[in-house]
Amino acid sequence: IVHWPFSVVQRRKLSWVQLAGHKGNFKAADEGNILKRFSENEMQCFEKLKDDALLPFVPGYHGTVEKDGESFLHMTDLLVNFDLPSVMDCKMGVRTYLEEELVRARERPKPREDLYKKMVEVDGDGPTAQEHSQRGVTKPRYMQWRESMSSTNTLGFRIEGIKKCDGTCRTDFKRTRSRQDVIQVFKDFVGGNVNIIQKLTCNHCCSPWQVIGSSLLFIHDHTGNAQVWIIDFGKTTALPQGQTLKHDIAWQEGNREDGYLWGLENLIRTLESVGNQ
Ligand code: ATP
Ligand code: MG
Ligand code: MG
Repeated sequence: IVHWPFSVVQRRKLSWVQLAGHKGNFKAADEGNILKRFSENEMQCFEKLKDDALLPFVPGYHGTVEKDGESFLHMTDLLVNFDLPSVMDCKMGVRTYLEEELVRARERPKPREDLYKKMVEVDGDGPTAQEHSQRGVTKPRYMQWRESMSSTNTLGFRIEGIKKCDGTCRTDFKRTRSRQDVIQVFKDFVGGNVNIIQKLTCNHCCSPWQVIGSSLLFIHDHTGNAQVWIIDFGKTTALPQGQTLKHDIAWQEGNREDGYLWGLENLIRTLESVGNQ
């Protein structure tokens, strides 16, 4: 008998991967769980999701935890039931910032040099003449630029990152925009196993919230286990009383539309076409 050299716990730690966000935002927790840096908004979402039809599609939420003087949201690690999983984060919607952020940046612009540098790294012609001279761009401006470079504006979702079962990790999808490019990446993600696609394209329903910056986390492994989860509710907010969104019509400032369902439809169709190519 050949013994696998790692214990189950070690293996689980090896499979943990963070495909988006700041590295300091997550901490390991007790077996099968993780800690995400506390946000009031995300906590409110998890609380409301307790009585929502979407509950089976979101990570289990176990309340807040204090660690090293900081607050965290205690939630289920979605990777634990997989063996050497492949993981993909797709950020949903036609925009990735709140209308409030846009208004704030317009009233009190705060140009940031770190975002300017990130922009120039991808496209030297990205910044305007004024942005070049001040060596800074505002956050919404940076996010709008990211949306126009990727498939966010044209397909209503974009690929943030992928970890494959061989351990390789990629987050350099800032310029993956065309449907053909997205299909190529999806193809690589499912590794030619088109049966996985059927399991990953089950439809979700959506509640009448404004869903901004949330992702679908796609996970599959060599055993054929495949699941999709809705994660990241840092900018998902309940609308004012009585207001609802269609989620599949164009966004114009003021209508708060997020394009979530339109993006989901495009995502499903794009994934399905991977199997037909
Ligand atoms: P951003 O807003 O920049 O997208 P964030 O700090 O809000 O980042 P998330 O998007 O929630 O963080 O998560 C970042 C990454 O961490 C995800 O892409 C995924 O790889 C991993 N992750 C998040 N939640 C879970 C979970 N419950 N189980 C397993 N992996 C997770
Ligand atoms: Mg995210
Ligand atoms: Mg987030």
